[in-house]
Amino acid sequence: MTERLYSTDQYARVATATVVDLDPDDGRVLLDRTVFYPGGGGQPHDLGELVLGDDRLAVSRVAADGRGVWHWLEGGLPPRGSDVRAEVDWDRRYHLMRTHTAMHALCGVVWDRFHSPVTGGNMEPGIGRLDFELPDWDPDDKLPLEEELNAQLAAARPVQIAFLPREVADEDPSLIRTKVSLLPRELREVRVVDIVGLDRQADGGTHVASTTEVGRVRIAKVESKGRGFRRIRLALEEASVPT
Ligand SMILES: [Zn+2]
Repeated sequence: MTERLYSTDQYARVATATVVDLDPDDGRVLLDRTVFYPGGGGQPHDLGELVLGDDRLAVSRVAADGRGVWHWLEGGLPPRGSDVRAEVDWDRRYHLMRTHTAMHALCGVVWDRFHSPVTGGNMEPGIGRLDFELPDWDPDDKLPLEEELNAQLAAARPVQIAFLPREVADEDPSLIRTKVSLLPRELREVRVVDIVGLDRQADGGTHVASTTEVGRVRIAKVESKGRGFRRIRLALEEASVPT
């Protein structure tokens, strides 16, 4: 199994690793350890490069399976057993970390105001969308919600990662903010992301260490998805939002 360095050290951008297997037909390699996030929970996989001597091989896709984390490469595969340096496209990843933490903060603010669970979500660097069951929504709520969200982010809340045994996590339904638990049955340990005092949920993604790193955000749009469901689009202050 691949050691997932991003899970405990979210700020790790570079790691040395060994190619433990390859699939030439599919153009991918399995590493013994990695800083590349393989995607999941609405956060897309990382991009970046594997460096082997003078060669820089672009990583175009990353995904995990039962054996570990696979890296799809452009321009050939290094042989099994070779040592590589894995380098994440940090600018893109850091935008995703800020966006992901902003989305959890929005979950916390919506939960406090409306007690509404999340029903889905997705993000790109700088922009994200979350779907809520939000029957009591009024268009006038948009600005106060944005102000509350920014006040919470400016409060410099620490964002902490913890690992709980599955039995402990199962005893705490508040950890699963999504309407349906997405935790795989075989998961023995549950990673928990805690924006201290605001939002705490089971999550495998990468986050910033403090809400101040998110900066200001905009609620770009609130769309009705019918029958009391709303889609809230948010954007980091500097991100341009496609309309
Ligand atoms: Zn998340």
